[in-house]
Amino acid sequence: MGSYRIDVLGVPLDIATDYLQLAQSLGSGHIVTLNAEMVMAARRHPRLRTVIQGAELVVPDGAGVVLYGRWRGHKIDRCPGIDLAARLLESAREKGQKVFFLGAKPDVIPRTVAHWQQQLPSLQIVGWHHGYFDAPAEGEILQTLHQTQPHLILVALGVPKQEIWIAEHRSLCPHALWMGVGGSFDIWAGVKKRAPQWLGRMHLEWLYRLLQEPSRWRRMAVLPQFLWLALWDRKIG
Ligand code: UDP
Repeated sequence: MGSYRIDVLGVPLDIATDYLQLAQSLGSGHIVTLNAEMVMAARRHPRLRTVIQGAELVVPDGAGVVLYGRWRGHKIDRCPGIDLAARLLESAREKGQKVFFLGAKPDVIPRTVAHWQQQLPSLQIVGWHHGYFDAPAEGEILQTLHQTQPHLILVALGVPKQEIWIAEHRSLCPHALWMGVGGSFDIWAGVKKRAPQWLGRMHLEWLYRLLQEPSRWRRMAVLPQFLWLALWDRKIG
């Protein structure tokens, strides 16, 4: 199973045929799910760029980065972060590994946890906390992580908060896989809907998200710029 890394406008992206196997073979480290918005954010925020560069695995979560790779002649398919995270939870259940959920609103996270308790009853959930914590609560979260040493830590604080939070605290659990999962907890909890598969196949999942949350337009306004830069890069690359 081969994999290699390419550069997408200053940040890395791993190209592989089986990202689940790759994540499992890593065993520990930081998994970033890359999309065009993140690439553009990393160009503005050096800290985010450094964190992505330091991640052990960067998967193509968004259509924009897949197009970028294909335009440059790489054989690449989307690896939606929410699906990879779900597979990792299944695998943790099979191996009897411990998991921790951090993030989402206080009324959402119990529903996310209940969803997985129902889907995978023997999953060892050693802790969870919502993502709107103050400094004392954060101290408790970090202490729990340190004491329980989960194998899989899913962090849903949004971009770039989750990536930076993971980079700052990952040394607490050096044997864990840490993964930023954005809005996945909201979808598992049933408070947000995922785009239908046919839209995903047409690379239009972003449009569905925009229609569901029109306030995202400002964040998404960078997408045409990403495509423009990608085309330009192809011409000179
Ligand atoms: N969130 C959080 N704490 C914060 C900010 C956001 O827990 O301080 C959660 C929010 O409730 C949501 C997720 O982070 O569940 C971000 O979802 P979004 O769809 O915006 O993810 P992104 O597109 O940034 O990956």
